[in-house]
Order: sequence, then C-alpha cells, then structure tokens
Amino acid sequence: MTTVRKSGALRLTAWGAPPRLVDLEVPVPRDTEVLIRVEAAGICQSDLHVLDAAADHLPYPVPFTLGHEVAGHVAAAGPAATGIAVGERFAVYGPWGCGQCGRCAIGHDNYCDRRGSLSWSGAGLGRDGGMAEHMLVPDRRYLVPIGDLDAAQAAPLTDAGLTPYHAIAALTGKLREGTTVAVIGVGGLGHLAIQILKAITPSRVLAVDVRDDALELAHRSGADLTTLTRPDSGKVLRAATEGTGVDAVFDFVGNDETLALGARALRAGGDLVRVGSGGGQLTITKPGPLPQGGTLSLPFWGTQPELHAVIALARTGRLRVETELFPLSAAHSALDRLRAGRIRGRAVLVPTGPGELP
Ligand code: NAD
Ligand code: ZN
Ligand code: ZN
Repeated sequence: MTTVRKSGALRLTAWGAPPRLVDLEVPVPRDTEVLIRVEAAGICQSDLHVLDAAADHLPYPVPFTLGHEVAGHVAAAGPAATGIAVGERFAVYGPWGCGQCGRCAIGHDNYCDRRGSLSWSGAGLGRDGGMAEHMLVPDRRYLVPIGDLDAAQAAPLTDAGLTPYHAIAALTGKLREGTTVAVIGVGGLGHLAIQILKAITPSRVLAVDVRDDALELAHRSGADLTTLTRPDSGKVLRAATEGTGVDAVFDFVGNDETLALGARALRAGGDLVRVGSGGGQLTITKPGPLPQGGTLSLPFWGTQPELHAVIALARTGRLRVETELFPLSAAHSALDRLRAGRIRGRAVLVPTGPGELP
C-alpha cells in the first residue's frame, strides 16, 4: 500500500465564498519546477480584495491556493531544475509573467507584455501560492537566495517590501536632499516604504494614517512627522513644507479621500504614486486636482533585480518588518483581524506540519 502524503493549503474554491483550509497531495515537481517547503507566507490587503471580488472581476480560474508573499526551502526539484540543492532557502518572486516576452526576459515580469492575456497576476493570484505547507514554483529564476534571513522577514519583503521599493526607486533621481514625501497608509507596505525612503533617499518623510498604532509604527520606521487623517490633512501636509507642498505622495490606500488628499498636498511638478487598490477615483482635468507638471503613476509590484536589492538591504539590517505570526490553521482569524484593521505591520502565516523534507 502506498501512502499519499498530504499537505495543508488555504484555497479560494469559489468566488465570494470564504477560503477553505484543505489537505492536498504534496505536488511532485516536473521539468523546471521547484517544490518549496513553505516557512512563511505574508497576508496582504490584496488578498482581501481578491476574496471580496465579484465572480467576473478577475481572470483567475478557481480553485487556487492563496499566498503571494512566500519564503521557504527547497524540498525537491524537477529533472530540468539545475543548480539547486534540497534545503537551500529562498524568497519567491511572485509576479510571474509569460516567461517569454522581452520584459520577462530581463526579470521585469511584473510588467509582462502578455499580462492582459494571462489568467493570473502571479503566485497566489490565479496560480497556486504559498499559504500552504508546500508550493510549486515554475522555475528557479523566481527564487532569490535569503541565506539565514528569518523567513517571516523574507516573505513580506517579496511584496510589502518589493512594491514600495519599486515605487520609490523610480523616483530616486528626483528625491534629492531637501525634498519631502508623504506616505499615506502605514500598514504592511507603508511601514516598509518609510524604511526604504530613509535607506535610499535623503527625503523627509511625513506619514498619514487613521490609526494611532500605525502612526507609532511610522515613527519607529523613521518618519519625521506623523498625522492622523482629518478633513484638513492637506493643509497639515502643506504647512509641514512651509506651504510649498510635498515632492511626492505614496498612497497605500487609494480611496477617494486619500487620492484627493494626495493631489492637494502635492507641489508643482510633484509625483502622485498610487499603490493602493482602495477603489477610489481621481478625475484628471486641466486645470484639475493635480498641480502643474504633476505626474500620476500606478506601479505594480516590482522586478527581480529589485527583489535582490530589497533582500540585500534586509540582510544588512536596514529593513525590519514588523510582523504578527499565525499558524496556517489560524489563517481565517488572521484575515479577519486584517479586515478589522487590527494588524500592526504584516500578518505572517507560519505553516507547521509533519515532515521537514520529503
Ligand atoms: P494594510 O491593511 O496592511 O495597510 C493599510 C493601512 O492604511 C492601514 O494602516 C490603515 O489603517 C490605513 N488606512 C486605511 N484608510 C486610511 C485613510 N483613509 N487614510 C490613511 N490611512 C488609511 O494594507 P497593505 O497590505 O499594506 O496594502 C495597501 C494597499 O496596497 C492595498 O490596497 C493593497 O491591495 C495594495 N497593494 C498594491 C500593490 C501594487 O503592486 N500596486 C501591491 C501590494 C498591495
Ligand atoms: Zn500583495
Ligand atoms: Zn512576459
């Protein structure tokens, strides 16, 4: 009699239904695939956007396993996955593209030329992700070595770290000495945005949130000034720049209120960077909400070289993710707490299960 090894996974099985924690057979890696034994998987606000999505809103076929922020070690490798050893530890680069276009060829899979025709946005977003004991990664090129970095740190860095890094790196030429930026929403992404701004730019950082504990986290992350969202937050931000306005706004909320606030706070020639998917709209007219010379951008996730840079920053101690850890069996309550605004920093699932290596 052969025993089939089982492995827990948190799956979206039907649109609009709560995700289900189920037992699956441990997958066998084929071709270039690598089987990762998951050590940690972060929970992102985007997971809630997926769970809340209407059936025809996203192109992802169900069922699939959630989890797009993953770190772990190699449990097995397919026959064509060369140069990889069982036990090696990696962070998973999540925004898998087609793997063939010009963008994917240089590791900019987040802007894959064929994104519009793919039925996934990446690991855990239409393809099986890492809120599980095991995860199949299609190719070794999506794995970034982490050495002895704590997995609960490495996992959130693959999105909550990488996405702000990508957004900030695009502006480092502009964010010189004497500049000021605003970070709106100091959750998983926002608190790392503040740390990254402090690590790679000389900018002064103003942080805005609706929660006092998030502002305390902003302060610990290096923010120079923190303020609760209020009707006159635009004035508060302008006053902090002697009326000039801020050079850039990184909006990690993206609702009507924060987009309007960001536009109001901006200096002429400034950058409004919308990262949050909070459903808000900003109507661009001329003249309109944006100042003269204003730029609006919509960065998505980040590139492979940027993930290497983020992991390197963390390994030298310059990034510190504030985490709340949960076992995989408590995934539902972790999701509920995130929805209720009761997570400080990043919630991270730490799957525990029988068998370290198959
Ligand atoms: P999070 O829940 O960890 O943090 C959000 C923070 O915003 C919280 O601290 C919350 O208190 C604060 N907030 C809520 N309403 C606010 C308001 N009106 N004013 C100021 N602060 C407010 O979320 P997260 O995981 O950091 O994700 C942030 C957003 O970014 C989400 O919409 C997510 O879907 C999106 N996201 C986008 C990308 C991308 O590639 N563009 C990648 C990851 C996440
Ligand atoms: Zn995410
Ligand atoms: Zn591609």
